[in-house]
Amino acid sequence: MSIIRRDPRAEWIARNRLHPLHAAMSTQGQISWMGPNGVLRKNPHLAAAGFIGPAGLKRIDRSGAQQGTSGKRAQVETQVQLPLHVVEQPAFHIVVVPDLVGGRLSSHDKDLLGLARKLAGDAGAVVAVVFGSDKENQYDVAGVDRLLRIHGEAFDGYSPEARVLALAAVEQEFKPRHWLLPDSRTGGGELGRRLGAKLGERPATRVWQVSDTHSTGRAGGGQQDLQRPLARLILAAAECAEPVSETRHEAREISLKSALAHSLPRIEDLGPVAVDPAQIPMAEAEFILSGGNGVRDWNLFHQAAQVLGATEGASRVAVDDGHMPRNRQVGATGTWVTARVYLAVGISGAIQHLQGIGACDKVVAVNLDVGCDMIKRADLSVIGDSAEILTALMAKVSAWRQEGKRDAA
Ligand SMILES: Cc1cc2nc3c(=O)[nH]c(=O)nc-3n(C[C@H](O)[C@H](O)[C@H](O)COP(=O)(O)OP(=O)(O)OC[C@H]3O[C@@H](n4cnc5c(N)ncnc54)[C@H](O)[C@@H]3O)c2cc1C
Repeated sequence: MSIIRRDPRAEWIARNRLHPLHAAMSTQGQISWMGPNGVLRKNPHLAAAGFIGPAGLKRIDRSGAQQGTSGKRAQVETQVQLPLHVVEQPAFHIVVVPDLVGGRLSSHDKDLLGLARKLAGDAGAVVAVVFGSDKENQYDVAGVDRLLRIHGEAFDGYSPEARVLALAAVEQEFKPRHWLLPDSRTGGGELGRRLGAKLGERPATRVWQVSDTHSTGRAGGGQQDLQRPLARLILAAAECAEPVSETRHEAREISLKSALAHSLPRIEDLGPVAVDPAQIPMAEAEFILSGGNGVRDWNLFHQAAQVLGATEGASRVAVDDGHMPRNRQVGATGTWVTARVYLAVGISGAIQHLQGIGACDKVVAVNLDVGCDMIKRADLSVIGDSAEILTALMAKVSAWRQEGKRDAA
């Protein structure tokens, strides 16, 4: 029998997540390995052969197809495709006009598409109307059967009059069973009300629940619920429905048959105005740099927020320790934020903090602890010291700005 030799140093490194050689020595990722007593050890998480499905949910493969090397697992993962839902001859249309802030579907837009799918059932088609240029390439998994792109200079920037005229043309051609717009401050709320006036129909506003016959929306300054028969024009709140996650759709490009009418706009868009990120209320900030107990140099943190053009936020510990004012606290007992990007520096990700960032689109975490909950929540993680990462980030942003200026000159 061969003698089993133990390497206490390697075992110690494998236990120490902060050691630079941890990944190399770790048994993480291995399905099975020989233990110190010669007994074959299995990682129950991997051996159970679960994998993360395309919708981000953990799936268990009972066929055993994934057992074996991680390479094999990756191969199986790439083969997983959501079932394609095709509506060849739609019996009716549900038209959605997403906000597409920054050219991409926001979580609010995705909720709206989820609601549209619910209303469309199997027979109807969900049509998404997109104005101007966009950067989105996930319309198919968001539930869009038909994609109607309306281009033209008239639709660039703030152009509600031109957009309502175009939507009136969509009304003529499709006679949608329902119109769905996000009841948001980023365009949908205003456009939906203007469309209501144009169509001569009263929209159901701030809708958060829809049944076959009724919709429920917030009213009375957000203090009451108002239930009314299901309107054709629905302006829905965020979380009005679950986003689509189980099916894939065609997102087939279509165009309007008739030419669009143009009118002389009474509103002129003079372009965006620079605002001081520090003055933006936390709940409305699009980009938040948030600091926690892992921030050691607060002057550097403030400087980084300025260079990045971010609104400052903080964990409760940072506030309790006097580094940040109370109105900057993010979380269950602070402000619930809805930023497009939330950059959390030295924040562990306690449940009370995570509650406050539930509606953020993209979370980036900077932390020393690979296993902390903020890293599990994050879409992108940087493992390292907060001061080092912030300094490097500022240098990169400054260099990028200089390059931009040089190119423009
Ligand atoms: C009733 C109640 C309500 C609460 N409400 C809130 C709330 O609204 N908001 C809130 O935030 N908390 C709230 N809390 C507190 C919450 O439970 C946590 O204690 C708090 O969020 C922790 O803050 P933190 O992540 O900054 O600190 P810690 O938990 O101490 O985490 C610090 C993090 O920094 C990392 N770190 C350390 N040094 C460095 C470095 N040099 N570089 C990079 N990373 C580093 C560590 O790995 C760690 O992950 C509440 C608690 C209770 C009981």
